[in-house]
Amino acid sequence: MALLKLQSLSVAHGDLDLVSDVSFDVHAGERVGIIGESGSGKSLTALAIAGLLGEELRSRGSVHFDGEELIGASERHLSRLRGDRIAMIFQEPMTALTPTKRVGVQIGETLRIHRGVGRRASQIAAVELLGRVEFSDPQRYARMYPHELSGGQRQRVMIALAIAGDPDLILADEPTTALDVTVQRKILELLDRLVREENCALVLIAHDLAVVSTICDRVVTMYGGRVVETGSVADIIDHPRHPYTAALLATSSAIAVDVESRGTVLPSIPGSVPSAGHFPGGCPFRDRCSSATSACLEFPLMESGSHRVACWHPLDENSERGSR
Ligand code: SF4
Repeated sequence: MALLKLQSLSVAHGDLDLVSDVSFDVHAGERVGIIGESGSGKSLTALAIAGLLGEELRSRGSVHFDGEELIGASERHLSRLRGDRIAMIFQEPMTALTPTKRVGVQIGETLRIHRGVGRRASQIAAVELLGRVEFSDPQRYARMYPHELSGGQRQRVMIALAIAGDPDLILADEPTTALDVTVQRKILELLDRLVREENCALVLIAHDLAVVSTICDRVVTMYGGRVVETGSVADIIDHPRHPYTAALLATSSAIAVDVESRGTVLPSIPGSVPSAGHFPGGCPFRDRCSSATSACLEFPLMESGSHRVACWHPLDENSERGSR
């Protein structure tokens, strides 16, 4: 049974659907990457799972976590789940850290609230956690305030906070996007190791397929607030079937480095992402897709199977890198 099961999840602002009909599963210990450009609905999906949409947004459909329906659950219950069983790592850790509290104190509070650890033991455990996220002198860093740390160090504190509650699921929303490339790689390696050690599931949101393919088992591509393709990392990297996934693959950082080294012009996806809720009707990618036909005025049904795509004219599954 899936640990997390999304069925026809939609998120609306008034009458405007910003996320529509999103369905996918995450099994215990599995790592699922959600990819797409900014505005594709990835973060809203994660916030809906965590019950953090705020007052102006409404979710419909179903978010089942370990057999329990979270849509419609009380804020008290959701707040208990967050930290106890579902942890979030955000792109900008300063939005989640308390600037006036030392990092050791913040981690200690999480341990006391979510694991019932006593005050003194929580401070010792906080220092241990800072060691696990590779601070070389964890006692010294435990006494620091968030503003005294670099971006990469703050993100490591966020990861320590995420695992402090011993979660079953970590939702990581663009955790490396604000960091430089070398730090990005270190943070991904750290996340990879800790998720394995903790044996928890991971939903990793990124706009770069190269980031997701580093540590995930499966990929979900979103565009226009909809899931347009899903499959194993190998399916998506070697045989992308949706033109949007193929375009993301062609613009991913790993491939860009390869292309740059050959002195070739970097590829880009034509056009830009419309603002949320203002995608064209039918297939939301049709204004940017060179294969669009009149059939694309209707949204295509998602296929069944392990590698699924929602496209009227999908790329050839049997050819490398999605050529037709
Ligand atoms: S449904 Fe049509 S417009 Fe959309 S990606 Fe497929 S071919 Fe392109």
